[in-house]
Amino acid sequence: MNNKVEPFRSGFVAIIGRPNVGKSTLLNQLLGEKVAIVTPKPQTTRNQIRGIRTAPGSQVIFLDTPGIHRARSLINRRMVEVAKSTLREVDLTLWLVDATKGLVGEDEDITRLLVESGKAALVLLNKIDLVSKLKLLPVIDRISSLFPGREIVPISALKGENLRLLVDLILKSLPEGPRYYPEDEITDQTEQFIAAEIIREKIFLLTRKEIPYGVAVVIEEFSEKPEKDLVVIKAAIHSERESHKPILIGKKGAMLKKIGSQAREELEGLLGCKVYLELFVKVDRGWTQDPNAIKEFGL
Ligand code: GDP
Ligand code: MG
Repeated sequence: MNNKVEPFRSGFVAIIGRPNVGKSTLLNQLLGEKVAIVTPKPQTTRNQIRGIRTAPGSQVIFLDTPGIHRARSLINRRMVEVAKSTLREVDLTLWLVDATKGLVGEDEDITRLLVESGKAALVLLNKIDLVSKLKLLPVIDRISSLFPGREIVPISALKGENLRLLVDLILKSLPEGPRYYPEDEITDQTEQFIAAEIIREKIFLLTRKEIPYGVAVVIEEFSEKPEKDLVVIKAAIHSERESHKPILIGKKGAMLKKIGSQAREELEGLLGCKVYLELFVKVDRGWTQDPNAIKEFGL
């Protein structure tokens, strides 16, 4: 009989990949809770979000990074920097590739970053629910020639396909280590941060073109009223352009109302109480190019 006690394993795992490959979806699935916002648009995730998955013998801290892409504006360059520095800190990297698109230019940049970092990595071919097995083969071939000797795992983050296998592979590659976070903690983000992100997600889902990219949400008040089973949230939507303001507000305030009611509904589920949500739009000309503003907005 083998009575050997398995050591506790723990470590940090980065989730990287081009915008829109499904990084936030995967993180939420692995945690069983929504900690990262998900939208059909690229470049939604701006900050690094930690998600913590604790099991009896292990703890994995996942880092959802902003997508790596060829950067132009200052805020985009900042996001790429965050992704790069993350790679240096982790025990393992999960590199997501969109199976419906195959490898594109930025994926070569990512491969270079991964090879430079010298860290263990798994390649996850995501969205396999959308493509036939036959079409996967050439993509797998290209990945193995670009990045030889690494395990390639086809998954569907959305449908949960192959995620159990993925978790096993992750755990196998982690070192022995402590439990870094309390076992009931699933993210390092504050409720305020998640509230701002949920509002930003609704703006991404409801407005078009460049508008959501020029928006930062700042929570100006977050007060709990336990006697009324209520949380009062006041949030400012900072828009980089004057011309975006009327669009964000909408006819007779219709757009702002829609953003507010969708966000409120989700926040009530998250916080488990009633939410009074007040939104207003402020214009901060060119904030996405202003290092001070980016800092002030916590980005
Ligand atoms: P991120 O930018 O890499 O964080 O990508 P998101 O997680 O925000 O996902 C981008 C879009 O892809 C969203 O509309 C997701 O619902 C969708 N998506 C993510 N994973 C899958 C998947 O496995 N299958 C399908 N069909 N869609 C997915
Ligand atoms: Mg994301």
